[in-house]
Amino acid sequence: MKVCVVGGRVAGSLTALNLGERDAEVVVFEEHRDSGFPVSCAGLISEDCYERLRNFGVNAKQNEIKGAFFFSPSGKYVEAIGKSRGVVVERKLMDSQLLRRASKVAEVRMSSKVVGVERGEVTFIVNGREKKESFDVLVGADGVNSVVAKSFGFKRPKIFLAVQILSEFEAIDEKFVELYFGRRYSEGFFAYAVPIEEDLAKIGVVSKTNPMVYLQRLINEHPSVSERIGKGFLELNVGAIPIGLVDFVRENVALIGDSAGMVKPYTGGGIYYTLIGAEVLGKTFPNLKAFEKAYKKRMWKEYYFGEKIRKLYETLKDEDYEELVKIASDLSFEDLHMDKPSSILKFLIKNPKILKVVRFFFP
Ligand SMILES: Cc1cc2nc3c(=O)[nH]c(=O)nc-3n(C[C@H](O)[C@H](O)[C@H](O)COP(=O)(O)OP(=O)(O)OC[C@H]3O[C@@H](n4cnc5c(N)ncnc54)[C@H](O)[C@@H]3O)c2cc1C
Repeated sequence: MKVCVVGGRVAGSLTALNLGERDAEVVVFEEHRDSGFPVSCAGLISEDCYERLRNFGVNAKQNEIKGAFFFSPSGKYVEAIGKSRGVVVERKLMDSQLLRRASKVAEVRMSSKVVGVERGEVTFIVNGREKKESFDVLVGADGVNSVVAKSFGFKRPKIFLAVQILSEFEAIDEKFVELYFGRRYSEGFFAYAVPIEEDLAKIGVVSKTNPMVYLQRLINEHPSVSERIGKGFLELNVGAIPIGLVDFVRENVALIGDSAGMVKPYTGGGIYYTLIGAEVLGKTFPNLKAFEKAYKKRMWKEYYFGEKIRKLYETLKDEDYEELVKIASDLSFEDLHMDKPSSILKFLIKNPKILKVVRFFFP
């Protein structure tokens, strides 16, 4: 059975790797010359996710993370060490390692931009020439602006915008990520610093609108960040984050990764949920309906609670964040797992005083 996969980054490579084991004939189309370009990712994943990626030849660790500092808008913060540790990966390196491994089980066509898809045939441009390739199954691993999703009329996820810089930054502790909450620093989400080493971090904002305006405010006015960030930056990336898993299978066409909204709704992290997606696709192939059913069955709880947490970012006011940081200073976060937002349930049950502030969590 022949499978065409559009997109050769994390979703496309993991799809090829999982289908390659099922004896499918896989062809991957990637419009860029290299995988992983342009980079728009902080590269923060759980240790468990990293270990599973290691099985596919990934060796791209930049830093190990013990926990997070949650900042209120006034610059106060609380330390949270959860159940899972984190790893920061160099995304470009990771993507190229995955694609190299995928090329052992699939035919990978770089600089090949898919410009049209119909039932049974992909049209792509390589070296300025239009070519066609037939398929039995088509997988759209082509990101938020998926041409596959648009061509087959799939519902699209909501889009949040992101901007990220690589900058000199004096981390409070380079083994902790920093999360900045409040309406001055994002509309409906949060800003972050993911340290790579003692004085270098990926600093970004995810927001419904105007992430650049919020980033400038974070850099220039945040009571803690503005004191610790260097002047200028080494890299600037912009990106989009899909929020909300959509129906991702229609007949012989499936979406995976960002194109399907396989992203944690409360952090924007997509690597882990995509890894699970590709594993489930591999196990259920060639039954695409079974793929959709099994993925949703396995993940619905995480999307449900992830979306509930994300909605809090829209409803909480600055004074609520001040109150939360105050209350949380003597709480234990050991039940919280970064890949499992459903773990918040146990945390809330053990710490009911949080519910005084997070009163919108339960209907
Ligand atoms: C600022 C920012 C920070 C992030 N930080 C994290 C993080 O810390 N941890 C985490 O887990 N996730 C993070 N994410 C999310 C993560 O980057 C994505 O979920 C992940 O990259 C999705 O992978 P993908 O393969 O589905 O899509 P993409 O990475 O978008 O890859 C799609 C690929 O398809 C190719 N393509 C598109 N159209 C065509 C076409 N027509 N023909 C051929 N090729 C095509 C593109 O060139 C691209 O290579 C972040 C996102 C942003 C924007």
